[in-house]
Amino acid sequence: MAYIHTLGDGRSLSLDNQGNQTTVTLASTGIGQQQQTSYGFQTGSWTHPPEVAQSATGFVVKLTTTEGESFIHVQGSSVSLSSKSSSASSFQAMQTTSNEPMQPMQPMQPMQPMQPMQMGDMQMNLNPMEMRMGNMELRMGDKPDESGAKTSTRRFCSQCGVAVKPSDRFCSSCGSSLS
Ligand SMILES: [Zn+2]
Repeated sequence: MAYIHTLGDGRSLSLDNQGNQTTVTLASTGIGQQQQTSYGFQTGSWTHPPEVAQSATGFVVKLTTTEGESFIHVQGSSVSLSSKSSSASSFQAMQTTSNEPMQPMQPMQPMQPMQPMQMGDMQMNLNPMEMRMGNMELRMGDKPDESGAKTSTRRFCSQCGVAVKPSDRFCSSCGSSLS
């Protein structure tokens, strides 16, 4: 679960926890520019959602993890991790005035796997690209050899010109012997 907090100066701070690693991403969205910097810290696995408080010099994020409490200090564009108890007391002081819980960020919806598309008697598959409409079939993609082989081995009756299967010994139309 990732959390995002808007810092109010055109920047946003997002946090994510994977295993013991907390990833802090500082993004600024000024006019005509978009900058993003990520920092990774070994903090342990979160046991509570992160809390953020504004300090005199920036922001402090409190993380409660399986390893105890740690604090991420954001000052300007620098992000640092500290687990000092002095951070805890200053965070407590800040908490009384400006603490607010971070809002969970909506997780990305996983991509739905491509389903074959079907409309009436038309069917379309992607990968390989294949389209069927009634008895018409259109295919492109990873089977060019098969269709190529069909074309090159196609035979026609020398008497009446009808298409015959390569395995046929006699023409199905006029019955003449196929050599
Ligand atoms: Zn024939």
